[in-house]
Amino acid sequence: MAIERTFSIIKPDAVRRNLIGKIIARFEENGLRPIAMKKIHMSRQQAEGFYAVHKDRPFYGELVEQMSASPVVVQVLEGENAILKNREVMGATNPENAAEGTIRKDFALSVGENSVHGSDAPETAAEEIKFFFNDDELVG
Ligand code: UDP
Repeated sequence: MAIERTFSIIKPDAVRRNLIGKIIARFEENGLRPIAMKKIHMSRQQAEGFYAVHKDRPFYGELVEQMSASPVVVQVLEGENAILKNREVMGATNPENAAEGTIRKDFALSVGENSVHGSDAPETAAEEIKFFFNDDELVG
């Protein structure tokens, strides 16, 4: 199996509820190793840029608002099949559809405030890592 890197955000709703450690534990328990990590408060402009792919979707304005409202934790996670593994550990976008034992099932508040972001493919993982980290910040 391939060792991959993926990009993760612990979103404002989870940081506000002091869930950073509990969420990182889920990653570690599932073989995902944080190789870069920082707590930041995204500007509106950063949130708009990061989610530009969704700019025509009805939820875009609210999403940008929520993601820039208070701090987040951005991370690079490394492990076997990290991209798919992270998506499995996160669970479905809407917590009502998320499987038992997933982060979103256990912690998300709603489809919008759903506690975590994770890259969905190798190309987006590479782009998203670059959006927030320099190469010398990745210490795998
Ligand atoms: N989102 C939302 N309403 C929707 C779909 C998505 O508010 O109907 C938000 C939600 O926070 C989600 C993000 O937009 O995590 C990005 O959506 P995507 O479909 O890429 O879901 P994800 O990859 O995060 O599971």
